[in-house]
Amino acid sequence: YSNFAADLENTITPPVKVEHTQLLINGRFVDAASGKTFPTLDPRNGEVIAQVAEGDVEDVNRAVAAARKAFDEGPWPRMTAYERSRILFRFADLIEKHNDELAALESWDCGKPFEQSAKIEVPMLARVFRYYAGWADKIHGMTVPADGPHHVQTLHEPIGVAGQIIPWNFPLLMLSWKLGPALACGNTLVLKTAEQTPLSALLVGRLLHEAGLPEGVVNIVSGFGATAGAAIASHMDIDKVAFTGSTDVGKIILESAAKSNLKPVTLELGGKSPFIVCEDADVDQAVELAHFALFFNQGQCCCAGSRTFVHERVYDEFVEKAKARAIHRSVGDPFKSGIEQGPQVDSEQFNKILKYIKHGVEAGATLQTGGDRLGSKGYYIQPTVFSDVKDDMLIATDEIFGPVQTILKFKDLDEVIARANNSRYGLASGVFTQNLDTANRLMRALRVGTVWINCFDVLDATIPFGGYKMSGTGREKSLYSLSHYLQVKAVVTSLKNPAW
Ligand code: NAD
Repeated sequence: YSNFAADLENTITPPVKVEHTQLLINGRFVDAASGKTFPTLDPRNGEVIAQVAEGDVEDVNRAVAAARKAFDEGPWPRMTAYERSRILFRFADLIEKHNDELAALESWDCGKPFEQSAKIEVPMLARVFRYYAGWADKIHGMTVPADGPHHVQTLHEPIGVAGQIIPWNFPLLMLSWKLGPALACGNTLVLKTAEQTPLSALLVGRLLHEAGLPEGVVNIVSGFGATAGAAIASHMDIDKVAFTGSTDVGKIILESAAKSNLKPVTLELGGKSPFIVCEDADVDQAVELAHFALFFNQGQCCCAGSRTFVHERVYDEFVEKAKARAIHRSVGDPFKSGIEQGPQVDSEQFNKILKYIKHGVEAGATLQTGGDRLGSKGYYIQPTVFSDVKDDMLIATDEIFGPVQTILKFKDLDEVIARANNSRYGLASGVFTQNLDTANRLMRALRVGTVWINCFDVLDATIPFGGYKMSGTGREKSLYSLSHYLQVKAVVTSLKNPAW
């Protein structure tokens, strides 16, 4: 890591100014009712980027009141669907215009490589909004051939005020997966960003209003989970909650929803996704894809391929090459060109990952490379590879959420299917093989929401994403997510003359 570690002491100045740090309520940037703020930190060195207004229960109440009024009195849900769609298309154009500004805020707050934000994530943000802008005027009900002298139709109506809580690993993308379908269906909403990464969403909020979004439709509350987040989950006047984050908090959200007004909940939670390298694999290609599947975004992906199962025939070669690839991973200041990996998001995640690495060593897995922090400041971690990992080790059962690859050996397909499915999670999986029968077998047998065959992390707006088992409930992106933001009303009209 020597080429890069030397640079870690001097951080590059991000090419952006932080303009928005207040809460966005009813179309205006305002301070928190309490006047309190909290610091958002630069993961490269732990220094304060900006003080941000800290939303709490009272601010959530204000935001919900604004969203309620915007829903009940309009104009948003009563506009023509075409008008809503045009606003969302205009917003997508503004995202493109502000691409680098959004990308710089995202990378600064989160630590992800600027090139990744600017070339992949912000363009995906625009793509998701265009996808849902296109849906706005294609959402409609049915006529139903019921028995008897009745004309029966269904109306697909917006559900009302949505509460949305997002994590810090993909702040802009998680925002788009939530706002896109909610707005296309005509809902209003209150979004709580993660306390680690509040900045980019606030610029999004301004751009939405520049695009013509009426006030009160999107309200953004920065703040903490136990206060602002909990207020959303238990609010009596929020009609639906969508959450992405840890499985433990997902359970709390579901409980709060049940104990308050039984609002429907969609959850996108953790994972421990298998990446299965079959015996016919081209090892070089498999190593590269498995590396990407785990290390992308500093390993901070809910769908990371974090259990790398490798067939015994290619195992030794795979381990050697996976180690070499990890050693060559370019880790450094995310604003430097050519960087693949920046720092972890904060000290909490950083310490948690180092603890898991220690567990792995103590449990007897072989540490092939890495295993420690990189540099002396900030939250950089060496790309780490463990081999000889056993299924019951904590590094093979728990979501590490960091740059730690765990490689496990398998003998045959029946065995790997059983082991891959032996997890409380079921978010995603990767299969690497040239054999069509093997691919088909695994694709059907794996109990997960996504199977990527000879690819990974293809997260196009048109493809549904979500988990089996304790990885969550509901689907985001694609047309499937629309149903979570709609109510279906049956309308039955008596016919005077059934035979027309
Ligand atoms: P988290 O679940 O605590 O936080 C996610 C979001 O939920 C944040 O906005 C947070 O403020 C909010 N939140 C926290 N407690 C809440 C509560 N009681 N009520 C309502 N909202 C609440 O996740 P984290 O602490 O940031 O990360 C912990 C672990 O979660 C990670 O190590 C990782 O394993 C997992 N994680 C998963 C995803 C994912 O995409 N599925 C994303 C981030 C983290």
